[in-house]
Amino acid sequence: MNLNEEIINCRKCPRLVEYRTTREIPRRYSGEIYWSRPVTGYGDIHGKLLVIGLAPAFNGGNRTGRIFTGDKSSDFLISALYEAGFTNIPTSTSRDDGLTYNDMYITLALKCAPPDNIPLKDELINCQPFLIREIQMMDKLRAVLVLGKIAFDSYLRILSEKGINIKNVKFGNELYYDINGIRLYCSYHPSPRNVNTGSLKRENFIKFLREIKKYINS
Ligand code: SF4
Repeated sequence: MNLNEEIINCRKCPRLVEYRTTREIPRRYSGEIYWSRPVTGYGDIHGKLLVIGLAPAFNGGNRTGRIFTGDKSSDFLISALYEAGFTNIPTSTSRDDGLTYNDMYITLALKCAPPDNIPLKDELINCQPFLIREIQMMDKLRAVLVLGKIAFDSYLRILSEKGINIKNVKFGNELYYDINGIRLYCSYHPSPRNVNTGSLKRENFIKFLREIKKYINS
């Protein structure tokens, strides 16, 4: 079984298995068949950039079966990535929409949708080996972009368990750190709450992505 098959068949977290398969489907999507399984990473595993998000949204990736597809966070993120040259189209609506990523791979700290988008620590620990293996497969990795504090903590936990010094590394929007030969970029998560309150601004986010692009190509 390859990594993605292992992920898709994983049932390690009972609370998430129950949530992803039994939560009621909202009326606006009634009649749709939800994916309701873990959501794998997507993109170019030999790319120079890894983007790590939090977890699939119940009506986003958990519905469509592809990471950052079919919800408001995806609309914001993919259109910004497109402006910075990381995708071939500006939208991500369904698994067969033809979206491809350029020189980057995108994945999640937690592969299953959690209730209220809040994972438990044990669930993140359960899912960590999948993220470690994805990172190991990225043989040309130069930079990691974490979207939000939970993705940041997950990545730092992996570094810390490898004995890498992360003492002065703190989360904040539009920050970066050079750690062990990989540049870590931090951004707020592109959730509707961050976007609607103006915490995450589209033009700033695009500028930040362009800086990342410039760095990985330098
Ligand atoms: S969150 Fe990760 S470890 Fe838990 S059931 Fe889903 S894929 Fe498995």
